[in-house]
Amino acid sequence: MVLERVPCNICESEAADVLYSMDPHKIVKCKDCGLVYVNPRLKEEALKDIYNESYGDTYIKQESTRSSQAEEDFDDVSKHCHFNGNKLLDIGCSAGFFLKAAKERGWQCRGIDLDKEAVEFAKKKFDLDVEYRALEETDFKEKEFDLITLWGVLAHLRDPKAYFIYINRILKDDGWLVLSSLNIDSICARLFKERFRLIDPSAHIYYFSTTTITKLLELTGFEVKRRYYPFWSTPYFKWIELWNVPLRLFHLKVYNPILKFLGLENFVKKDIKSPPFWGNMVVVYARKKLT
Ligand SMILES: [Zn+2]
Repeated sequence: MVLERVPCNICESEAADVLYSMDPHKIVKCKDCGLVYVNPRLKEEALKDIYNESYGDTYIKQESTRSSQAEEDFDDVSKHCHFNGNKLLDIGCSAGFFLKAAKERGWQCRGIDLDKEAVEFAKKKFDLDVEYRALEETDFKEKEFDLITLWGVLAHLRDPKAYFIYINRILKDDGWLVLSSLNIDSICARLFKERFRLIDPSAHIYYFSTTTITKLLELTGFEVKRRYYPFWSTPYFKWIELWNVPLRLFHLKVYNPILKFLGLENFVKKDIKSPPFWGNMVVVYARKKLT
């Protein structure tokens, strides 16, 4: 397994505290700006393989829920952002559900993704202009797009700062960047620590919070205009599964002495993950800052 060491992507500091040791990876927190990231991490080629194996298929199987979610997401973006044009680029577009929603509403859409199967699906099923390539392999024109979206891909990027700088360049002056990310400052991440359900150091290499996303956006020429924590209206929310929250909390280390006292120590599951919950994900709308 080939590992590499990297400095903090926001402030370039190499001073960091180890939060979780998950052999062979470590998840660290920058001492200077608070960014949480995997260091050392797998080299690029190893990561690409993992990504290709596990994502597209799941998304395609969830077509109807993903489609209606994408429509809601697009309508929320339209409601809160003002656009003078209608050119959209979706980075990490997967099977193309968000692009499809935008296209149906009259937008000119392009997408890129590193999942061949999902890209083929988006082309065939929705007749979308999508390509199998990474952003660094593209040569989009300066100030080409009105809206660029990054749904759930921030944690996978190898160099988020370089991405944001490039995105800023290819956005029009009044353009918007809309992204969603896991949130390492969430209630569940704080309570469940390394058992937070979105911790997966072989696939997720950056663990942003609302604060660190804002820092990186400001550093790369954006102003944050809106943020929210999607949950209650997503497919992840089911009333019945809310029982999971107190039930899984019961497996936290903090309760071990109580369970031991009650003779229930065998009941504790050490590998249980945090449940889907409000705050696990954050959505941020940022406008290009005029210079
Ligand atoms: Zn830092």
